[in-house]
Amino acid sequence: MTSAFDLTGKVAIVTGANTGIGQAIAVALAEAGADIVAAGRTASIETEAQVRKAGRQFLSVAADLAGTGVIPDVIGQTVKHFGHLDILVNNAGIIRRAEALDFTEADWDAVMDVNLKSVFFLSQAAARQMLSQGRGGKIVNIASLLSFQGGIRVASYTAAKSGLAGITRLLANEWAGKGINVNAIAPGYIATNNTDALQKDEMRNRQILERIPAGRWGRPEDIGGGAVFLASRAADYLHGAIIPIDGGWLAR
Ligand code: NAP
Repeated sequence: MTSAFDLTGKVAIVTGANTGIGQAIAVALAEAGADIVAAGRTASIETEAQVRKAGRQFLSVAADLAGTGVIPDVIGQTVKHFGHLDILVNNAGIIRRAEALDFTEADWDAVMDVNLKSVFFLSQAAARQMLSQGRGGKIVNIASLLSFQGGIRVASYTAAKSGLAGITRLLANEWAGKGINVNAIAPGYIATNNTDALQKDEMRNRQILERIPAGRWGRPEDIGGGAVFLASRAADYLHGAIIPIDGGWLAR
């Protein structure tokens, strides 16, 4: 009997797979058996090498997810190349930091566009494709601790990630009965480009570390196993969950 976590024969789109959490998820899905489509604005050269090393196929699709115009091409190229789509991981995201009193409309819109608007419309396009295939599918959103907490100096990021938690639940409600599982992972503090400023700020770094029960920053690889689970048949009865992978931060 094959493992309930086996993804052999599945095709997964991962957005922002060139670095950080997206890269680790793409590699983990490939190691579990999935072929990978990396959709992003920077070439995923390192990721491609690791996916191929795992013995899986790899396709790169150039996509700036600051806009929704690229979405038909992301789905179209995937289906043209692989014939089907089974898994979507909405990972691409940005953050802008400023006091709420100084926060600009440009920083609001930029974050909302990538972290929320494109996620919704890419999910919509992926679900339409999955439904046309008649075998359901899995959508995994990368949420945040700020899907649960307020944060500080990151107004549009908190709005987007809180909104993403809501959209995860809404899509789960609408699509669970159609065989599409929509769930999310809420990573804790993971050492990537996204948190570079925090890691370099001596005081914030110490405050963060002191509050994490696991006593260390997360690594992108810490998120991979959760994504494999949510993309696999082991998660067939899981809908609308937002699973923290945070070294215990939210339990504190
Ligand atoms: P990262 O290293 O900065 O990676 C972000 C990814 O998103 C990159 O691949 C980036 O591509 C891509 N991206 C950004 N804007 C894009 C656009 N307009 N079009 C296409 N791709 C775009 O940060 P990360 O920490 O791995 O972040 C991945 C996800 O995890 C994000 O959604 C983030 O909010 C979330 N997250 C991170 C943490 C953490 O502690 N690190 C915690 C909770 C949630 P480029 O390289 O081209 O910019």
